[in-house]
Amino acid sequence: AKANGRNNYRLFSHEMRASLQRQVELEEQLRYALEHDELSVFYQPKYCLNSDQVVGFEALLRWQQSDGNWVSPAEFIPIAEQCGEIDAIGRFVIEQGVAQIAKWYDQTGIWLKLAVNLSPSQFRDLGLVDFIGRTLKQHQVSSELLELEITEGVFLSGHADVEEGIRGLNQLGVSLAMDDFGTGYSSLSYLRRFPFDVVKIDRTFIVDLQPNTKDYQLVTAAIAMANSLGLAVVAEGVETEQQLDLLARIGCHLVQGYYIAKPLPPEQAIEVLCVESRQ
Ligand code: C2E
Ligand code: CA
Ligand code: CA
Ligand code: CA
Repeated sequence: AKANGRNNYRLFSHEMRASLQRQVELEEQLRYALEHDELSVFYQPKYCLNSDQVVGFEALLRWQQSDGNWVSPAEFIPIAEQCGEIDAIGRFVIEQGVAQIAKWYDQTGIWLKLAVNLSPSQFRDLGLVDFIGRTLKQHQVSSELLELEITEGVFLSGHADVEEGIRGLNQLGVSLAMDDFGTGYSSLSYLRRFPFDVVKIDRTFIVDLQPNTKDYQLVTAAIAMANSLGLAVVAEGVETEQQLDLLARIGCHLVQGYYIAKPLPPEQAIEVLCVESRQ
């Protein structure tokens, strides 16, 4: 048993070393990624079941390295948060996204809403609220068209500036969405304390959605609660027609997921809109 334990330990430490090495490598490469145009923003449609229309998009970061490899944001965002690169990267997404709203308007005559994810550590970026305001002005985009998605993690991060940041964003007139709703411990109390406009029901509640299951009851209750608070509800991770039908029946009208479209580069994202409006 002892020998076995030692082997396990060795295996573990080898894996740990490999993962640490990868982390250090990515951290170094991330510093250059922005300057070398390796980062880009993809856009996933948000679809309204009432009007049968794409009503907006979520901006999702993509990183393709010079050797062609894609690195997932689930892997590099936490590293960017740790090494402080998230401030520059976060501003890049906002700049690209706001410019894209204006570009889509020029191309289609339609103002589309855009949701951008904000990391907890971006609340340490004291100039962020001003930067967002300046960027909107510069591209002549109304603040109502920008939505910021934050998770409960923002409130648990211990950054003293969170309350002030949220107040500042609220004053700008951008909307606020609670992302990954239902996965945290105190989402409800944050909904009460802060001026949220939207809740996004986490994908884990949608993936096994069937009539008369716990998930079904929970999603139904979440939608009723959100409606009574005057919040919009978006279901994320919708992959099948059955999930879509169930959500429509429960009264969830905004959906996002591979069943509608994957996150797409801006030229393709706008095609989704054109195809749909020709129907
Ligand atoms: P998230 O904000 O919860 O974004 C939803 C994730 O689910 C995205 O993964 C999206 O591509 C994926 N997704 C959408 N529809 C489906 C579906 O039907 N099925 C499945 N299985 N997945 C679906 P992605 O793009 O890999 O991003 C992962 C996470 O990385 C995001 O989770 C977000 O937390 C973070 N992230 C991405 N872009 C940014 C960014 O610009 N800033 C910050 N701070 N975080 C970002
Ligand atoms: Ca999100
Ligand atoms: Ca989410
Ligand atoms: Ca998520």
